[in-house]
Amino acid sequence: MDSKVITLLKTEAYIDGAWLRTAKSFAVVDKASGGLIASVADCGSVEARLAVTAATRAFGPWSRTLAKDRSVLIRRWNDLMLEHADELALLLTKEQGKPLAEAKGEIVYGASFVEFYAEEAKRVRGETAPTHKSDARILITKQAAGVVAAITPWNFPNAMIARKASAALAAGCTIVIKPAEDTPLSALALAALAEKAGIPHGVINIVPCKDPAAVGDVFSTDPRVRVLTFTGSTEVGKILMRQAAGTVKKVSLELGGSAPFIVFDDADIARAVAGLMASKFRNAGQTCVCANRIFVQAGIYDAFAGALAAAAKLLKVGAGIDAGVNVGPLISAEAVAKSDDHVRDAVAKGAVVATGGRIHPAGANFYEPTVLTGVPATAKIAQEETFGPVAPLFKFE
Ligand code: ADP
Repeated sequence: MDSKVITLLKTEAYIDGAWLRTAKSFAVVDKASGGLIASVADCGSVEARLAVTAATRAFGPWSRTLAKDRSVLIRRWNDLMLEHADELALLLTKEQGKPLAEAKGEIVYGASFVEFYAEEAKRVRGETAPTHKSDARILITKQAAGVVAAITPWNFPNAMIARKASAALAAGCTIVIKPAEDTPLSALALAALAEKAGIPHGVINIVPCKDPAAVGDVFSTDPRVRVLTFTGSTEVGKILMRQAAGTVKKVSLELGGSAPFIVFDDADIARAVAGLMASKFRNAGQTCVCANRIFVQAGIYDAFAGALAAAAKLLKVGAGIDAGVNVGPLISAEAVAKSDDHVRDAVAKGAVVATGGRIHPAGANFYEPTVLTGVPATAKIAQEETFGPVAPLFKFE
């Protein structure tokens, strides 16, 4: 690991303001090279409960802290994120894979939520409402809900945590966080900066683990947790919602997508291609709003497909830390296999590969930026989220 990131490379769980080692650990690898970055504490239900206990204890004092004082601490956290943006970005690129420029973009994006909520912390105002009784008055006051549990994905390992945690803290809530198993280091680095910012013990807790079910079970069933926030697959979201029903938690879910992108005959081809390139190939196609189904009107179809394939050919594939790279590795060999399966299935059903369509020679996690034309509605890619650098073009009249 590059010595530049050593200061923020944390490998223990962060619970109640202490860095906690566990008996078991799990490997976090560099998604481009496959090399080991670090062995990280592998938490289970015991550590998850410890974290909830710490967050429960911290909740009283934190929720009673003056809004202005909470705002100052959250703001300090934001400032430290920006000060350490280069280190955070390098760590993110290594464990997640996205090109360094995108990783830096994510750090600034993540910090922007923290800045926003630092400001909003001071503006948690109430309301009055008309009443049904002449001798009564209705006042609506906002109160912190309690302990928030967050489960976050690997595709934005910094920003999804920054967003959930800063909102919770601003409202006066405390938080327990389970980062994705592929990307716990960005989460732990954020905790290190929260510690440095002076955010009190127990207000932010991070519980990394290899197998999410045990920690997820505590987060979604422990009665002391009052809010469950999750970003990830629809399938897991349904499990968590079901589990959270037992204790009637407030649940907020951000789940999968299958975004359409529509190009009509009168479109400006250059602008449409530029828009699609940004939407489809950012983070190697691994964002929940990546265009997954591209519908192109017949009159412009061939010209658009040609221009898109030409643009996709120009993308530089490689390790995210290398200069000029636009498309990094996917998160895993399984993700590559899914992209490849979607391509092969479409081709078997009549689609044509305009560019790409194969595993990239850069390594096991790399897939060629791909454009498919003539994709039939029966193809798997028309139904399932690919989450990879594959652009399927469907024709409409
Ligand atoms: P994806 O990997 O497609 O983003 P997942 O929903 O599998 O979607 O992962 C998102 C987050 O949900 C990750 O932090 C993962 O560890 C977690 N997760 C997966 N399965 C469970 C589960 N059964 N309980 C709790 N969390 C889970």
